[in-house]
Amino acid sequence: MQYISKMVKLSLILALLFLASNSYACPFKLDRELYQGGIAYGKIDEGYDLFLDKKKIPTKNGNFIIGIHRDRKVNALFKAFDNKTKKQINCEIEVKKFKWKIDYVNGVEGEKVTPPKSYFDRIQKEQNLMVNARKALLTNHFPTSFIMPVHGRISSPFGGQRVFNGQPRSPHSGIDIAAKQGTPIKAIEDGKVMLAYDEMFFSGKIIVIDHGFYVNSTYAHLSKINVKKGDTVKKGDIIGEVGSTGRSTGPHLHITINIFGVNVDPLKVLKD
Ligand SMILES: [Zn+2]
Repeated sequence: MQYISKMVKLSLILALLFLASNSYACPFKLDRELYQGGIAYGKIDEGYDLFLDKKKIPTKNGNFIIGIHRDRKVNALFKAFDNKTKKQINCEIEVKKFKWKIDYVNGVEGEKVTPPKSYFDRIQKEQNLMVNARKALLTNHFPTSFIMPVHGRISSPFGGQRVFNGQPRSPHSGIDIAAKQGTPIKAIEDGKVMLAYDEMFFSGKIIVIDHGFYVNSTYAHLSKINVKKGDTVKKGDIIGEVGSTGRSTGPHLHITINIFGVNVDPLKVLKD
């Protein structure tokens, strides 16, 4: 008899534990499935802090935006920290894989594959400028929608990779939009100009705009820049003109969208 009552107690405890574990449902929702190179908007209940890969995700009235790395191999493990109970809830969300385009190009001139050593210092300096320009965080503005900066054929998609003479290059960090020299370029969303630079080795004339909540956009190979560092821009403002400066083979706009240090596919973000 005693044995049976012990069993009943034990199963009751197990049932309660089961219920308790289930009551810790994820306190947030995402508006879409997660893909490599993709984005998602989310909304979290009040009183929680949300972390992904140990980084705290900034929220505004519970709203947030996240980007998923092109090469992310593992699922997204979110940690939601309840500020009241001090409890942490782990939420694992599947990241779907994408097959990126890889082109093998042989017989390319050596100098075009690897820049000469004399340019290394300059390239390093320019990379540091980019890193700093993308550190900003405008807490007062939450970016909600983004417009196409230029209309045209997508001449090179996001994430594609070229292998020159057997040496893999960095995957394409954004998209290329083919357009005529001098075509006006629009700011894709409200923001602040973090960098307006005339002569980058790879990118030529370049602009970086911070849109808040660690979302920023980069516009490269411009023929003309209409803004300067520190300027505030509105969505649709003409910030420059399409060109072919830097390492470019013809007029086009290269645009990169970076969310919290992760480049995402601009076509998943830009709507028009
Ligand atoms: Zn490009």
